[in-house]
Amino acid sequence: MMLGLLLARAGVDVTVLEKHSDFLRDFRGDTVHPSTLEVMHELGLLESFLQRPHDKAHDIRAFVGGAQAIVADFSRLRTRCRFIAMVPQWEFLDFLRCEASLHPGFRLAMNTQAVGLIEEDGRVVGVRARTPTGETAVRADLVIGADGRQSAVREAAGLQVVNLGTPIDVLWMRIIKRRSDPAGSAGRIGTGRFMAMIDRGTYWQCAYVIHKGGNEAIRARGLEAFRADITALVPLFADRIKAELADWDDVKLLSVSVDRLVKWWKPGLLCIGDAAHAMSPIGGVGINLAVQDAVAAANVLAAPLADAKLTADTLTRLLAKVQKRRMWPTRLTQAVQVAAQNRMLDPLLDGTRPPEMPFALKLLNRWPALRTWPAYAVGVGARPEHVNSPEAVPRRKA
Ligand SMILES: Cc1cc2nc3c(=O)[nH]c(=O)nc-3n(C[C@H](O)[C@H](O)[C@H](O)COP(=O)(O)OP(=O)(O)OC[C@H]3O[C@@H](n4cnc5c(N)ncnc54)[C@H](O)[C@@H]3O)c2cc1C
Repeated sequence: MMLGLLLARAGVDVTVLEKHSDFLRDFRGDTVHPSTLEVMHELGLLESFLQRPHDKAHDIRAFVGGAQAIVADFSRLRTRCRFIAMVPQWEFLDFLRCEASLHPGFRLAMNTQAVGLIEEDGRVVGVRARTPTGETAVRADLVIGADGRQSAVREAAGLQVVNLGTPIDVLWMRIIKRRSDPAGSAGRIGTGRFMAMIDRGTYWQCAYVIHKGGNEAIRARGLEAFRADITALVPLFADRIKAELADWDDVKLLSVSVDRLVKWWKPGLLCIGDAAHAMSPIGGVGINLAVQDAVAAANVLAAPLADAKLTADTLTRLLAKVQKRRMWPTRLTQAVQVAAQNRMLDPLLDGTRPPEMPFALKLLNRWPALRTWPAYAVGVGARPEHVNSPEAVPRRKA
Protein backbone atom coordinates (compact mmCIF):
# COMPACT_ATOMS: atom_id res chain seq x y z
CA MET A 1 0.00 0.00 0.00
CA MET A 2 2.86 2.35 0.85
CA LEU A 3 4.60 1.65 -2.45
CA GLY A 4 1.26 2.06 -4.25
CA LEU A 5 0.93 5.51 -2.68
CA LEU A 6 4.51 6.51 -3.53
CA LEU A 7 4.29 5.36 -7.14
CA ALA A 8 0.86 6.93 -7.77
CA ARG A 9 2.18 10.16 -6.24
CA ALA A 10 5.00 10.09 -8.80
CA GLY A 11 2.56 9.72 -11.68
CA VAL A 12 2.76 5.95 -12.20
CA ASP A 13 -0.45 3.99 -12.81
CA VAL A 14 -0.69 1.44 -9.99
CA THR A 15 -3.15 -1.32 -9.21
CA VAL A 16 -2.95 -2.87 -5.73
CA LEU A 17 -4.52 -6.33 -5.46
CA GLU A 18 -5.76 -7.43 -2.02
CA LYS A 19 -7.18 -10.89 -1.60
CA HIS A 20 -9.38 -10.01 1.38
CA SER A 21 -12.49 -7.83 1.33
CA ASP A 22 -11.18 -5.63 4.17
CA PHE A 23 -8.06 -4.92 6.25
CA LEU A 24 -9.57 -6.14 9.50
CA ARG A 25 -7.01 -8.67 10.65
CA ASP A 26 -6.21 -8.76 14.35
CA PHE A 27 -2.78 -9.43 15.86
CA ARG A 28 -0.88 -8.29 12.79
CA GLY A 29 1.39 -5.95 14.64
CA ASP A 30 0.48 -2.38 15.22
CA THR A 31 3.85 -0.82 15.98
CA VAL A 32 4.53 2.22 13.78
CA HIS A 33 8.09 3.17 14.65
CA PRO A 34 9.82 6.57 14.56
CA SER A 35 11.40 5.60 11.18
CA THR A 36 7.96 5.14 9.61
CA LEU A 37 6.64 8.31 11.29
CA GLU A 38 9.60 10.14 9.75
CA VAL A 39 8.49 8.89 6.33
CA MET A 40 4.96 10.11 7.04
CA HIS A 41 6.39 13.52 7.90
CA GLU A 42 8.43 13.61 4.68
CA LEU A 43 5.19 12.90 2.79
CA GLY A 44 3.45 15.76 4.63
CA LEU A 45 1.04 13.26 6.21
CA LEU A 46 2.24 13.01 9.80
CA GLU A 47 -0.28 15.34 11.40
CA SER A 48 -3.30 13.84 9.68
CA PHE A 49 -1.98 10.32 10.40
CA LEU A 50 -1.71 11.07 14.09
CA GLN A 51 -5.38 12.13 14.05
CA ARG A 52 -6.15 8.42 13.67
CA PRO A 53 -6.66 6.48 16.94
CA HIS A 54 -3.31 5.54 18.43
CA ASP A 55 -1.42 5.09 21.69
CA LYS A 56 2.13 6.22 22.26
CA ALA A 57 4.88 4.00 23.67
CA HIS A 58 7.73 6.18 24.93
CA ASP A 59 9.88 3.35 26.24
CA ILE A 60 10.17 -0.42 26.55
CA ARG A 61 10.66 -1.97 29.99
CA ALA A 62 11.65 -5.37 31.28
CA PHE A 63 10.48 -6.94 34.53
CA VAL A 64 12.75 -9.69 35.85
CA GLY A 65 11.07 -11.21 38.87
CA GLY A 66 10.25 -8.13 40.97
CA ALA A 67 12.97 -5.87 39.48
CA GLN A 68 12.46 -3.46 36.60
CA ALA A 69 14.72 -2.02 33.87
CA ILE A 70 14.08 0.45 31.07
CA VAL A 71 15.50 -1.21 27.97
CA ALA A 72 14.83 1.37 25.25
CA ASP A 73 14.03 5.05 25.76
CA PHE A 74 12.59 6.58 22.57
CA SER A 75 12.51 10.09 24.07
CA ARG A 76 16.31 10.12 23.58
CA LEU A 77 16.08 9.76 19.78
CA ARG A 78 16.68 12.71 17.48
CA THR A 79 13.69 11.85 15.31
CA ARG A 80 10.60 14.02 14.82
CA CYS A 81 8.48 11.55 16.81
CA ARG A 82 10.16 10.14 19.88
CA PHE A 83 7.70 7.32 20.46
CA ILE A 84 6.23 4.24 18.84
CA ALA A 85 2.69 4.91 17.63
CA MET A 86 0.50 1.91 18.36
CA VAL A 87 -1.93 2.06 15.46
CA PRO A 88 -4.25 -0.81 14.55
CA GLN A 89 -2.91 -2.11 11.24
CA TRP A 90 -6.29 -1.64 9.52
CA GLU A 91 -6.19 2.07 10.47
CA PHE A 92 -2.69 2.41 9.02
CA LEU A 93 -3.66 0.64 5.79
CA ASP A 94 -6.91 2.55 5.51
CA PHE A 95 -5.07 5.84 6.00
CA LEU A 96 -2.61 4.96 3.20
CA ARG A 97 -5.53 3.85 1.00
CA CYS A 98 -7.32 7.19 1.51
CA GLU A 99 -4.16 9.16 0.68
CA ALA A 100 -3.25 7.01 -2.31
CA SER A 101 -6.79 7.32 -3.68
CA LEU A 102 -6.27 11.07 -4.00
CA HIS A 103 -3.82 10.36 -6.83
CA PRO A 104 -5.48 9.68 -10.17
CA GLY A 105 -3.22 6.72 -11.07
CA PHE A 106 -4.08 4.64 -7.97
CA ARG A 107 -6.51 1.75 -8.05
CA LEU A 108 -7.21 -0.79 -5.30
CA ALA A 109 -8.85 -4.09 -6.21
CA MET A 110 -10.15 -5.80 -3.06
CA ASN A 111 -11.26 -9.45 -3.11
CA THR A 112 -8.65 -10.04 -5.80
CA GLN A 113 -6.13 -12.80 -5.15
CA ALA A 114 -3.00 -13.19 -7.24
CA VAL A 115 -2.77 -16.87 -8.12
CA GLY A 116 -0.04 -16.94 -10.75
CA LEU A 117 2.28 -14.94 -12.94
CA ILE A 118 2.00 -14.22 -16.63
CA GLU A 119 5.41 -14.61 -18.27
CA GLU A 120 6.39 -13.87 -21.84
CA ASP A 121 9.87 -14.19 -23.35
CA GLY A 122 11.47 -14.78 -19.94
CA ARG A 123 9.83 -11.73 -18.36
CA VAL A 124 6.99 -11.33 -15.90
CA VAL A 125 4.35 -9.19 -17.61
CA GLY A 126 1.45 -9.49 -15.19
CA VAL A 127 -0.49 -11.67 -12.77
CA ARG A 128 -3.45 -13.97 -12.95
CA ALA A 129 -5.92 -13.14 -10.22
CA ARG A 130 -9.02 -14.76 -8.74
CA THR A 131 -12.02 -12.50 -8.12
CA PRO A 132 -15.56 -13.28 -6.93
CA THR A 133 -16.67 -13.15 -10.57
CA GLY A 134 -13.92 -15.39 -11.95
CA GLU A 135 -10.28 -15.29 -12.98
CA THR A 136 -8.79 -12.18 -14.52
CA ALA A 137 -5.42 -11.13 -15.95
CA VAL A 138 -3.71 -7.93 -14.83
CA ARG A 139 -0.85 -6.92 -17.11
CA ALA A 140 1.88 -4.55 -15.95
CA ASP A 141 5.40 -3.31 -16.76
CA LEU A 142 6.36 -4.34 -13.24
CA VAL A 143 4.78 -6.72 -10.73
CA ILE A 144 5.60 -6.11 -7.04
CA GLY A 145 5.22 -9.11 -4.74
CA ALA A 146 4.20 -7.45 -1.46
CA ASP A 147 1.90 -10.30 -0.45
CA GLY A 148 3.46 -11.21 2.88
CA ARG A 149 5.37 -14.15 4.25
CA GLN A 150 3.19 -16.79 2.53
CA SER A 151 3.78 -14.93 -0.75
CA ALA A 152 2.10 -16.62 -3.68
CA VAL A 153 4.03 -14.33 -6.02
CA ARG A 154 7.49 -15.39 -4.80
CA GLU A 155 6.46 -19.02 -5.01
CA ALA A 156 5.09 -18.65 -8.53
CA ALA A 157 8.33 -16.90 -9.51
CA GLY A 158 10.39 -19.81 -8.16
CA LEU A 159 12.66 -17.47 -6.17
CA GLN A 160 14.99 -19.30 -3.80
CA VAL A 161 14.25 -18.87 -0.07
CA VAL A 162 16.87 -19.19 2.69
CA ASN A 163 15.26 -20.26 5.95
CA LEU A 164 17.26 -18.98 8.93
CA GLY A 165 15.40 -21.17 11.41
CA THR A 166 13.90 -20.18 14.72
CA PRO A 167 13.54 -21.92 18.10
CA ILE A 168 10.36 -20.03 19.08
CA ASP A 169 6.68 -19.57 18.35
CA VAL A 170 4.42 -16.98 19.93
CA LEU A 171 0.97 -17.20 21.51
CA TRP A 172 -0.98 -13.94 21.23
CA MET A 173 -3.64 -12.92 23.70
CA ARG A 174 -5.64 -9.85 24.55
CA ILE A 175 -6.14 -9.20 28.29
CA ILE A 176 -8.23 -6.33 29.59
CA LYS A 177 -6.30 -3.48 31.25
CA ARG A 178 -7.60 -2.08 34.53
CA ARG A 179 -7.18 1.56 35.59
CA SER A 180 -5.02 0.42 38.49
CA ASP A 181 -2.56 -1.45 36.18
CA PRO A 182 0.84 0.19 35.69
CA ALA A 183 1.08 1.88 32.27
CA GLY A 184 3.69 1.14 29.60
CA SER A 185 4.83 -1.75 27.42
CA ALA A 186 7.13 -4.28 29.03
CA GLY A 187 8.74 -7.69 28.74
CA ARG A 188 8.07 -10.02 31.68
CA ILE A 189 10.79 -12.57 32.42
CA GLY A 190 10.07 -15.41 34.86
CA THR A 191 11.26 -18.95 35.52
CA GLY A 192 11.28 -20.59 32.08
CA ARG A 193 8.88 -17.99 30.71
CA PHE A 194 8.86 -14.76 28.71
CA MET A 195 5.94 -12.59 27.70
CA ALA A 196 5.90 -9.21 25.97
CA MET A 197 3.01 -7.02 27.13
CA ILE A 198 2.10 -4.17 24.83
CA ASP A 199 0.08 -1.41 26.49
CA ARG A 200 -2.89 -0.69 24.19
CA GLY A 201 -4.64 1.74 26.55
CA THR A 202 -7.71 -0.35 27.33
CA TYR A 203 -6.09 -3.78 26.99
CA TRP A 204 -2.77 -5.60 27.06
CA GLN A 205 -1.66 -7.19 23.80
CA CYS A 206 0.38 -10.13 25.07
CA ALA A 207 2.94 -12.20 23.18
CA TYR A 208 3.81 -15.33 25.18
CA VAL A 209 6.93 -16.98 23.78
CA ILE A 210 7.06 -20.80 23.58
CA HIS A 211 9.45 -23.36 22.13
CA LYS A 212 8.97 -23.96 18.40
CA GLY A 213 6.20 -26.49 17.91
CA GLY A 214 5.30 -26.37 21.63
CA ASN A 215 1.71 -25.28 21.10
CA GLU A 216 0.24 -28.80 21.07
CA ALA A 217 1.96 -29.74 24.35
CA ILE A 218 0.73 -26.56 26.01
CA ARG A 219 -2.83 -27.26 24.90
CA ALA A 220 -2.56 -30.87 26.05
CA ARG A 221 -1.78 -29.66 29.61
CA GLY A 222 -5.12 -27.83 29.58
CA LEU A 223 -6.29 -24.24 29.74
CA GLU A 224 -6.18 -24.09 33.54
CA ALA A 225 -2.45 -24.96 33.57
CA PHE A 226 -1.83 -22.34 30.86
CA ARG A 227 -3.70 -19.69 32.85
CA ALA A 228 -1.55 -20.61 35.89
CA ASP A 229 1.62 -20.13 33.76
CA ILE A 230 0.47 -16.66 32.77
CA THR A 231 -0.48 -15.57 36.28
CA ALA A 232 2.82 -16.91 37.67
CA LEU A 233 4.51 -14.46 35.29
CA VAL A 234 2.02 -11.59 35.75
CA PRO A 235 0.26 -11.96 39.13
CA LEU A 236 -1.72 -8.83 38.20
CA PHE A 237 -3.81 -10.95 35.83
CA ALA A 238 -5.07 -13.36 38.51
CA ASP A 239 -8.32 -11.37 38.88
CA ARG A 240 -9.24 -11.54 35.17
CA ILE A 241 -7.45 -14.44 33.49
CA LYS A 242 -10.43 -16.81 33.58
CA ALA A 243 -12.76 -14.35 31.88
CA GLU A 244 -10.16 -13.18 29.37
CA LEU A 245 -8.94 -16.63 28.38
CA ALA A 246 -12.34 -18.32 28.41
CA ASP A 247 -11.30 -20.92 25.81
CA TRP A 248 -8.46 -21.67 23.42
CA ASP A 249 -10.04 -19.41 20.76
CA ASP A 250 -8.72 -16.51 22.87
CA VAL A 251 -5.14 -17.69 22.26
CA LYS A 252 -3.74 -17.29 18.72
CA LEU A 253 -0.61 -19.07 17.52
CA LEU A 254 1.95 -17.12 15.49
CA SER A 255 4.22 -19.66 13.86
CA VAL A 256 7.43 -17.64 13.75
CA SER A 257 9.63 -17.87 10.67
CA VAL A 258 12.72 -15.95 9.70
CA ASP A 259 13.69 -16.23 6.06
CA ARG A 260 14.77 -14.22 3.05
CA LEU A 261 15.04 -14.55 -0.68
CA VAL A 262 18.47 -14.98 -2.24
CA LYS A 263 17.34 -12.85 -5.16
CA TRP A 264 14.41 -10.50 -4.66
CA TRP A 265 13.67 -10.02 -8.33
CA LYS A 266 13.54 -11.43 -11.81
CA PRO A 267 12.85 -9.50 -15.00
CA GLY A 268 9.48 -7.74 -14.55
CA LEU A 269 9.10 -8.72 -10.87
CA LEU A 270 10.30 -7.44 -7.48
CA CYS A 271 9.48 -8.77 -3.99
CA ILE A 272 9.54 -6.49 -0.95
CA GLY A 273 8.48 -6.63 2.70
CA ASP A 274 7.69 -10.00 4.23
CA ALA A 275 7.52 -11.52 0.74
CA ALA A 276 11.27 -10.85 0.44
CA HIS A 277 12.16 -11.42 4.11
CA ALA A 278 9.91 -12.74 6.89
CA MET A 279 11.05 -11.22 10.18
CA SER A 280 10.98 -12.53 13.73
CA PRO A 281 8.57 -10.62 16.01
CA ILE A 282 11.57 -9.50 18.12
CA GLY A 283 11.64 -5.70 18.16
CA GLY A 284 8.33 -5.46 16.28
CA VAL A 285 10.14 -4.26 13.17
CA GLY A 286 8.32 -6.15 10.38
CA ILE A 287 5.92 -3.40 9.33
CA ASN A 288 8.62 -0.80 9.51
CA LEU A 289 11.09 -2.77 7.42
CA ALA A 290 8.36 -3.34 4.82
CA VAL A 291 7.76 0.43 4.72
CA GLN A 292 11.51 1.07 4.36
CA ASP A 293 11.60 -1.33 1.41
CA ALA A 294 8.70 0.53 -0.18
CA VAL A 295 10.42 3.89 0.23
CA ALA A 296 13.70 2.54 -1.20
CA ALA A 297 11.89 0.89 -4.12
CA ALA A 298 10.04 4.12 -4.93
CA ASN A 299 13.25 6.16 -4.68
CA VAL A 300 14.85 3.93 -7.29
CA LEU A 301 11.86 3.09 -9.49
CA ALA A 302 9.21 5.83 -9.36
CA ALA A 303 10.74 8.39 -11.72
CA PRO A 304 11.95 5.81 -14.29
CA LEU A 305 8.56 4.03 -14.27
CA ALA A 306 6.79 7.34 -14.91
CA ASP A 307 9.06 7.86 -17.93
CA ALA A 308 7.61 6.27 -21.07
CA LYS A 309 11.15 5.68 -22.43
CA LEU A 310 12.14 3.16 -19.72
CA THR A 311 13.46 -0.04 -21.33
CA ALA A 312 13.03 -3.55 -19.92
CA ASP A 313 16.80 -3.97 -19.48
CA THR A 314 17.13 -0.71 -17.55
CA LEU A 315 14.20 -1.71 -15.35
CA THR A 316 15.87 -5.04 -14.56
CA ARG A 317 19.05 -3.25 -13.51
CA LEU A 318 17.01 -1.00 -11.23
CA LEU A 319 15.36 -4.00 -9.55
CA ALA A 320 18.80 -5.33 -8.63
CA LYS A 321 19.63 -1.88 -7.26
CA VAL A 322 16.62 -2.00 -4.90
CA GLN A 323 17.73 -5.36 -3.52
CA LYS A 324 21.31 -4.12 -3.13
CA ARG A 325 20.06 -1.15 -1.11
CA ARG A 326 17.82 -3.18 1.22
CA MET A 327 19.72 -6.46 1.60
CA TRP A 328 22.26 -5.16 4.10
CA PRO A 329 19.73 -3.75 6.62
CA THR A 330 17.66 -6.94 6.23
CA ARG A 331 20.64 -9.20 6.92
CA LEU A 332 21.76 -7.16 9.90
CA THR A 333 18.28 -6.99 11.47
CA GLN A 334 17.71 -10.71 10.99
CA ALA A 335 21.16 -11.53 12.41
CA VAL A 336 20.34 -9.56 15.58
CA GLN A 337 16.91 -11.21 15.84
CA VAL A 338 18.30 -14.72 15.35
CA ALA A 339 21.03 -14.09 17.96
CA ALA A 340 18.41 -12.80 20.46
CA GLN A 341 16.20 -15.84 19.80
CA ASN A 342 18.99 -18.39 20.07
CA ARG A 343 21.13 -16.90 22.82
CA MET A 344 18.55 -15.22 25.05
CA LEU A 345 15.01 -16.48 24.52
CA ASP A 346 15.66 -20.17 23.87
CA PRO A 347 17.89 -20.68 26.98
CA LEU A 348 15.47 -18.57 29.03
CA LEU A 349 12.58 -20.92 28.14
CA ASP A 350 14.67 -23.85 29.42
CA GLY A 351 15.35 -22.10 32.74
CA THR A 352 14.37 -23.92 35.94
CA ARG A 353 15.50 -21.28 38.45
CA PRO A 354 14.22 -17.70 38.92
CA PRO A 355 16.23 -15.59 36.46
CA GLU A 356 18.50 -12.80 37.61
CA MET A 357 18.56 -9.36 36.05
CA PRO A 358 20.90 -9.77 33.02
CA PHE A 359 24.13 -7.79 33.17
CA ALA A 360 23.18 -5.75 30.08
CA LEU A 361 19.92 -4.64 31.74
CA LYS A 362 21.81 -3.70 34.90
CA LEU A 363 24.02 -1.45 32.76
CA LEU A 364 20.96 0.18 31.17
CA ASN A 365 19.54 0.82 34.63
CA ARG A 366 22.83 2.31 35.83
CA TRP A 367 23.49 4.55 32.78
CA PRO A 368 20.24 5.81 31.20
CA ALA A 369 22.13 7.29 28.22
CA LEU A 370 22.84 3.71 27.07
CA ARG A 371 19.09 3.25 26.47
CA THR A 372 19.48 5.38 23.34
CA TRP A 373 21.14 2.48 21.48
CA PRO A 374 18.35 -0.09 21.80
CA ALA A 375 15.86 2.72 21.11
CA TYR A 376 17.72 3.54 17.89
CA ALA A 377 18.05 -0.12 16.88
CA VAL A 378 14.32 -0.76 17.34
CA GLY A 379 12.84 2.64 16.46
CA VAL A 380 15.04 3.69 13.55
CA GLY A 381 17.08 0.64 12.56
CA ALA A 382 19.82 0.12 10.03
CA ARG A 383 19.90 2.41 7.01
CA PRO A 384 16.71 4.44 7.49
CA GLU A 385 15.25 5.51 4.14
CA HIS A 386 14.09 9.00 3.22
CA VAL A 387 11.51 9.84 0.58
CA ASN A 388 13.29 11.03 -2.59
CA SER A 389 10.67 9.92 -5.11
CA PRO A 390 8.92 12.84 -6.80
CA GLU A 391 5.42 14.16 -6.19
CA ALA A 392 4.63 14.65 -9.84
CA VAL A 393 0.84 14.71 -9.88
CA PRO A 394 -1.39 16.97 -7.81
CA ARG A 395 -3.69 15.27 -5.31
CA ARG A 396 -7.41 15.43 -5.87
CA LYS A 397 -9.40 17.09 -3.09
CA ALA A 398 -10.36 14.64 -0.32
C1 LIG B 1 0.80 -12.27 14.66
C2 LIG B 1 1.76 -11.26 14.09
C3 LIG B 1 2.22 -10.23 14.88
C4 LIG B 1 3.11 -9.28 14.37
N1 LIG B 1 3.54 -8.24 15.15
C5 LIG B 1 4.28 -7.25 14.62
C6 LIG B 1 4.59 -6.07 15.36
O1 LIG B 1 4.24 -5.93 16.53
N2 LIG B 1 5.28 -5.09 14.73
C7 LIG B 1 5.69 -5.20 13.44
O2 LIG B 1 6.33 -4.27 12.92
N3 LIG B 1 5.43 -6.32 12.73
C8 LIG B 1 4.71 -7.32 13.28
N4 LIG B 1 4.39 -8.42 12.54
C9 LIG B 1 4.93 -8.53 11.19
C10 LIG B 1 4.19 -7.61 10.26
O3 LIG B 1 2.80 -7.87 10.31
C11 LIG B 1 4.74 -7.83 8.87
O4 LIG B 1 6.16 -7.81 8.90
C12 LIG B 1 4.29 -6.74 7.94
O5 LIG B 1 2.90 -6.64 7.96
C13 LIG B 1 4.81 -7.03 6.54
O6 LIG B 1 4.18 -6.20 5.64
P1 LIG B 1 3.94 -6.69 4.16
O7 LIG B 1 3.18 -5.58 3.50
O8 LIG B 1 5.20 -7.14 3.56
O9 LIG B 1 3.03 -7.98 4.27
P2 LIG B 1 1.59 -8.15 4.94
O10 LIG B 1 1.33 -7.14 5.97
O11 LIG B 1 1.49 -9.59 5.29
O12 LIG B 1 0.61 -7.80 3.76
C14 LIG B 1 0.39 -8.66 2.69
C15 LIG B 1 -0.98 -8.35 2.15
O13 LIG B 1 -1.15 -9.08 0.95
C16 LIG B 1 -2.39 -9.75 0.99
N5 LIG B 1 -2.21 -10.95 0.20
C17 LIG B 1 -1.57 -12.09 0.54
N6 LIG B 1 -1.54 -12.95 -0.48
C18 LIG B 1 -2.18 -12.33 -1.50
C19 LIG B 1 -2.48 -12.72 -2.84
N7 LIG B 1 -2.10 -13.90 -3.32
N8 LIG B 1 -3.14 -11.85 -3.63
C20 LIG B 1 -3.53 -10.63 -3.14
N9 LIG B 1 -3.28 -10.23 -1.89
C21 LIG B 1 -2.61 -11.07 -1.09
C22 LIG B 1 -2.66 -10.02 2.45
O14 LIG B 1 -4.04 -10.17 2.70
C23 LIG B 1 -2.09 -8.77 3.10
O15 LIG B 1 -3.04 -7.73 3.20
C24 LIG B 1 3.53 -9.38 13.03
C25 LIG B 1 3.07 -10.43 12.23
C26 LIG B 1 2.19 -11.36 12.75
C27 LIG B 1 1.68 -12.48 11.85
